[in-house]
Amino acid sequence: MALREVKVCLLGESGVGKSSIVQRFVHDTFKPALESTIGASFMSKTLTVDEKTYKYQIWDTAGQEKYRALAPMYYRGAAAAVIVYDVTNESSFGVLKDWIKELQRHGPQEIVIAIAGNKCDLADLREVQYKDALAYAEQTNAIFVETSAKNATNVSEMFEAICRKLPDE
Ligand code: GDP
Ligand code: MG
Repeated sequence: MALREVKVCLLGESGVGKSSIVQRFVHDTFKPALESTIGASFMSKTLTVDEKTYKYQIWDTAGQEKYRALAPMYYRGAAAAVIVYDVTNESSFGVLKDWIKELQRHGPQEIVIAIAGNKCDLADLREVQYKDALAYAEQTNAIFVETSAKNATNVSEMFEAICRKLPDE
């Protein structure tokens, strides 16, 4: 059976948990002290959804402002983008909105966008309400999930949802 290759990039403010989400998805592990990403890193992972097999080519970018100009290299030709914010950090949600606008203006036409509200295990520290993020995602036609890379909540589910939303080849 044919394997569908899916290029995906992770975008979002530094420290929101992009690399931790990738670690959880690819290796099913969580390391509390991951080294911060320099530039971008690449990993791949194969998964089967609805009897179709997908090979994710995952570009995990660094969130720092100094690397921002490099982002187009990673979302160019991407089938999907995962934009991550931290539910305990309101300003990271503002950064997410900037990334969405940039993708809408300069990203691939049919790119599937998933919004991940990460660190949902930290309920007591929450600053961004679920319903507000959901309303924003609906308005931008994006997939929306709250994730915890730490507790493995909704990480593989999010990548499965992306597969289901890819346009037919
Ligand atoms: P990145 O800069 O977006 O790649 O973020 P990292 O993956 O390096 O994570 C930044 C920090 O947040 C690290 O200390 C992680 O251990 C922590 N972190 C990441 N995901 C979660 C999560 O789901 N829950 C909690 N509690 N901490 C997390
Ligand atoms: Mg990182």
